Amino acid sequence: MQNEKRPRPSDPEELSLSRAGKLYGRALRLRCPACGEGSLAGKWLLRRPERCSACGMRANRGEEDFFLGAMMFNLVLAEGLLALVMVLAMIVMWPDVPWEPLWYTGMVLMVLAPVVFYPLSHTIWLASDILIRPVTEDEMEWHRNNGATAYRPQEHR
Ligand SMILES: [Zn+2]
Repeated sequence: MQNEKRPRPSDPEELSLSRAGKLYGRALRLRCPACGEGSLAGKWLLRRPERCSACGMRANRGEEDFFLGAMMFNLVLAEGLLALVMVLAMIVMWPDVPWEPLWYTGMVLMVLAPVVFYPLSHTIWLASDILIRPVTEDEMEWHRNNGATAYRPQEHR
């Protein structure tokens, strides 16, 4: 069987810090969180890879609305970091805070940050999903066999 040589998904272990660290470490390097070998970098904003080139797992786990979670995470991550940076800048410069330059810098960063974090938000969201809902061999088989609709575990038993 040709799938035997492909990398296997991470073992579905209990929620643990080491497993979370492994999944998020792969996500931060824009690697497939499931196997850690395939790249999910794509072409930044222009094109997201449909699946991992190494293990064949779909980047959206076969769910059409998977990107909504990534979008939400992108906004929370980008704007949260921006808010943190702005507050730190105010604390450092207090009491002579240059309000107008800070305001304009914030506006520019508010637009740029979601663009910069866009691919990361997808891989981190995927890592979060895999952490909570581990990838099973049954699901990997479905990813590799090009199932047309969303993966439903009960249909594959
Ligand atoms: Zn993979």
